[in-house]
Formats: sequence, structure tokens, C-alpha cells
Amino acid sequence: MKVLITGGCGYIGSHTAVRLLESGEEVVIIDNLINSKIDVLDKIKEITGKNITFYQEDLCNLEELRKIFKKEKFDAVIHFAGLKAVGESVEIPLRYYQNNLVSTMNILSCMQEFNVLKLVFSSSATVYGSPKSLPILEDFPLSTTNPYGTTKLMIEQILTDVYKANNKLDITILRYFNPIGAHKSGLLGEDPNGIPNNLMPYIVKVATKQLPVLNIFGSDYDTIDGTGVRDYIHVMDLAEGHILALKNKKKGLKIYNLGTGKGTSVLELVNMFSKINNVKVNYKIVDRRPGDIASCYASSLKANKELGFTCKYTLEDMCKDSYNFVKKNSNL
Ligand code: NAD
Ligand code: UDP
Repeated sequence: MKVLITGGCGYIGSHTAVRLLESGEEVVIIDNLINSKIDVLDKIKEITGKNITFYQEDLCNLEELRKIFKKEKFDAVIHFAGLKAVGESVEIPLRYYQNNLVSTMNILSCMQEFNVLKLVFSSSATVYGSPKSLPILEDFPLSTTNPYGTTKLMIEQILTDVYKANNKLDITILRYFNPIGAHKSGLLGEDPNGIPNNLMPYIVKVATKQLPVLNIFGSDYDTIDGTGVRDYIHVMDLAEGHILALKNKKKGLKIYNLGTGKGTSVLELVNMFSKINNVKVNYKIVDRRPGDIASCYASSLKANKELGFTCKYTLEDMCKDSYNFVKKNSNL
């Protein structure tokens, strides 16, 4: 199968490219490198020993995209590309709507024109807003609190409508929970520019003394220790979910949560990280971050039943692999 990976130089796309190549598929990446680096391609080749075709292109450029589709004749598309910083999306919403929606509509119109029927799309647990109960099931009501989340919800609606108009399409929407961890080799991982927004990249920067202290946003939530609870999933397990989605025999429009089904608090994650890596993580408790919810974790039963999805990696692995990647790549 020849698979187009949009955003394949990014965090989740690069790990998925590795798993796809390892499982014998052909991979073509389109990425404009707005949030990634070109040397990721060499790292993917180093890990797998396989070649990838790469186009440095903006998916918003329909004419260039058409040329690539015409030339490559894809069997399937995994659409990761998009802007993803929640805070930034509040500051520059138009940029988020423009990039995330136009790129997706261009992909869909090329799929239509060149008769590509299979699509896997990266959605997010953010579409559940503030869930009414836990664990979160796929049929819970949807709502969002920021423009980034709204782009995901709008794209889910677009995909639903496009599928209604052409039920030969085979579309899988994957709602990711909190991906962390890195490839075991230390060659691929999460490498955000500037000061990280997300918890694990921030913990790693404090552990490696690139930042002085982790601010823990609130200790008065109704959770096990008062800090926020999330469902952290190893990026390699997440990557595997995409392989299973591509191979799924069930056709149509399908939606799956990809999470472990287990909640972990901020303090539990910090303590596990310190223990397993034998490193101190300075932290202080500060006010809650506006817009945060207390707890969020998946029911992974549907993905397990229909895709055979299970998580192989533990929280210990996630902490070890995240630290290993940054130690190897930050010239400390
Ligand atoms: P990432 O930023 O590391 O990767 C996205 C890639 O897309 C980048 O390499 C970027 O350069 C590229 N890109 C963005 N806009 C583009 C465009 N117009 N044309 C071509 N390339 C473009 O992000 P990630 O963490 O790998 O996330 C992948 C997808 O998963 C995103 O859609 C994101 O919203 C979604 N997601 C991520 C998380 C998370 O915590 N990482 C959680 C839920 C959902
Ligand atoms: N968090 C924190 N300090 C940080 C970043 C995050 O205490 O510097 C907390 C945040 O309040 C939440 C959890 O860590 O409870 C996960 O946050 P992240 O931004 O990684 O994911 P999201 O909130 O989008 O699920």
C-alpha cells in the first residue's frame, strides 16, 4: 500500500512513518516544516533502513497538491498536518481556521479527484470539552473551548458530510488522548520550539535544567491528589493505532478513542519521571490554568474490540523514553 502521511515530519507522524515502513508499506510525506525539521527524514531512514519520498509543500496550495496526487497514486492518506497549540489558537484564530480547514478540504478534494478512498484523520480528546462522566466514550456530546479544538470538531463534521455524500469512502477519525514518549532509539521524539505548553516536554526541560521549575496548574481539583488527571499514551502505541486503522476490515466512517483508559495525575507523572530516571524535577503549585478540566481519560473498549488496539508501553516507558530523547538531542 502506498500511504501519504501529511505532517509526517512532526511528532506523531514521524513515529507512524517508522511503523508503516516496518510493516512493509510505502510512505510518501508532505510537510511544510512549519513545526518540524527536515533531519527527521534521515532519522526515519536510519531506524528503518528504508526510503521515503518527501515533498516540502504547504497543503493549502491546492495546485501543487493536485500534482503530487496525480504523480503518486496513493492508496490511503493519514492526515496529521495541522497547527496544534491551544494558546496560540486563541491569539490567532484565523490562522488556525485557515491552515487546518483549508489543508483538510484540499486533501479531501484531491482524494475525490484521484479516487483515493481511505483516510485516517488525527482528531483529539479536546472535542469532548468538559465530559459529563468518565471514562469518555466515543458517543459522548461534543463541544470545544478554543479555536484549535473547534477546527477538529469542524473537520469531523466535514468528514461526516463528505462520507454521507459518498459512502464508498473509508474514513477513520482517531481521537488521541495525551501522547508522550519517544522512539526507543532516541532519534525521534517531541521537540517543541521555545517554552513548551504541554506537561511532559516541560518536565523534561526542568529535569535537564533548561528551565528552572515546573508550574503545576492547580492542586485543588477533585482528583486523587488535587492535580489534573490525563490519559497519557506512548507515541509508539498511538502509531500502532494508525496501522490497525488502515488494516481495519470494517468500512465506512468510524470513530475511535486512542488512549490507555487510565488516568494519571500531574504529581503522579512527575514522581514517576523522577523515580525512573533518577533525576530531580523542581516544581511549585500555582493557580489553575484557565480552560483546564480536572480529569480526562478514555474508554478504549471500542478501539480494542474493533481494531484490536492495546497499549504495550507503561508509564515508566513513557517517562524513560521522553527523557532519553531529550538527553540525546539537546547537547547538554
Ligand atoms: P506536530 O506539530 O509535531 O506535527 C504536525 C506537522 O504538520 C508538522 O511537521 C508541521 O510542519 C506540519 N504542517 C502543519 N501545517 C501544515 C500545512 N499546511 N502543510 C504541510 N504541513 C503542515 O504535531 P503532532 O503532535 O505530531 O500532531 C499531529 C496531529 O495530531 C495534529 O493534527 C494534532 O492536532 C493532532 N493531535 C496532537 C496531539 C498532541 O498532543 N501531540 C493530541 C491530539 C491531537
Ligand atoms: N500542566 C501543568 N503544568 C504545565 C503544563 C501542564 O501542571 O506546565 C497540567 C495541566 O494543567 C493538565 C496536565 O498537566 O492537568 C496536562 O496538560 P497538557 O497541556 O500536557 O495537556 P491537556 O491539558 O491539553 O490535556
